[in-house]
Amino acid sequence: MELVKTEPKRYGDYLELVDMETALQLEYFVKRLSGKRIAMVNATSYGGGVSEILHSLVPLSRDMGVKMDWWVMEGDNEFFTVTKTLHNCLQGQEGVMTPEAREIYRRYNEHNASDIKNWNYDFVVIHDPQPAALIRYRNDGGRAKWIWRCHIDTSTPDPDSWDFLYQYIKDYDACVFTVEEFVRENQFLPNPTFFTPAIDPLSLKNIPLEREEAEDIVSRFGVDINRPLVTQISRFDPWKDPLGVIDAYRIVKKDYPSVQLALVGSMATDDPEGWDYLYRTLRKAGEDYDIKVVTNMNRVTSLEVNAFQTVSNVIVQKSLREGFGLTVSEGLWKGIPVVGGNVGGIRYQIDDGINGYLVDTVEECAERVLTLLRNPALAEEMGEAGREKVRRNFLITTNILNYLKLFDSLNGRGDAAAPVQ
Ligand code: UDP
Repeated sequence: MELVKTEPKRYGDYLELVDMETALQLEYFVKRLSGKRIAMVNATSYGGGVSEILHSLVPLSRDMGVKMDWWVMEGDNEFFTVTKTLHNCLQGQEGVMTPEAREIYRRYNEHNASDIKNWNYDFVVIHDPQPAALIRYRNDGGRAKWIWRCHIDTSTPDPDSWDFLYQYIKDYDACVFTVEEFVRENQFLPNPTFFTPAIDPLSLKNIPLEREEAEDIVSRFGVDINRPLVTQISRFDPWKDPLGVIDAYRIVKKDYPSVQLALVGSMATDDPEGWDYLYRTLRKAGEDYDIKVVTNMNRVTSLEVNAFQTVSNVIVQKSLREGFGLTVSEGLWKGIPVVGGNVGGIRYQIDDGINGYLVDTVEECAERVLTLLRNPALAEEMGEAGREKVRRNFLITTNILNYLKLFDSLNGRGDAAAPVQ
């Protein structure tokens, strides 16, 4: 496994965004956990929401005085093809974890576990299914508390795939899910805990950009800044439904010909499906040059994502399943209304008709985008409501507090981990 280096962050910079209650609680729990060592473990340091969160959460926690490391497991295409199948099956897609796939999963976890032999952590947080089996090879005599943090929607999993994962999950000390509806009834899970992920308001992706600078950046990708722009930022993945977004855009285009669509997607290193879906998206976009498909291969970094979100008239996140969807909070934080799929974690970020719209179909998506394009005053009002919603609920400092409360409760002290509301 590899230890990930992160850019330092200063908690002091965040104080003006944090309410007094959260700040006091953070101080309290940091003190209580003084001297405890924490490991965060996931499958990639680049691409997707988990790495996005850890790049902020780890250095910010450290600056607060928490001893935290971030480890990324080693894997190659063979392993990540298997874990993407597992991910898809857990989110309810048809598919099978064949005996060979199970053996590959086990073998890579065993191989990675050779690096945890000398670990001396008090808390180990395993993110998502890829490294979940590491617990089988722990060598800490039960000293550390192991927490499984699930970022995906497991409300309707393929039963065999869930059983396969469950053989590992049952041995953890606690499980964290984003929302309660992701856990089915009568499911024994160790210390089930619920809290959402969050965005870093001071990361390059979310700091306020000057309008002019943002326009300058997106115009480099061929966007006409004098015409309306609708954007979806996400991996090229069937669950994110980029093809459905193009269908919705085509309906909008008939009534609103000046509209442009940007599909901005990073190619995560643990997502081998991404290329296939990128090619499908490009083929579907065809000869329509008002559809801009850009990826990190075109040098789209956090700054460019920020710029696209800042200048968009409407952000879309038309997912068909979604654990949380950081891109929704990112858009709302910039004061842009979001039209999102009526699924999973998106439902907790968008209050329908208040800070955006929840949609179930391509047609509904198109209709809501049109409403917002035609009513800039409404769009602005919704954007403002969205920013406030994010400030109250989905900032990284709240996320850190939720982890600290959980660690503290597992430490055998304090109340059960009640997430911050
Ligand atoms: N993202 C990015 N560049 C891209 C596409 C996505 O930086 O081209 C980021 C996006 O801004 C967000 C994260 O990747 O921070 C995706 O997280 P989300 O929870 O929306 O979805 P996930 O990929 O984890 O399913």
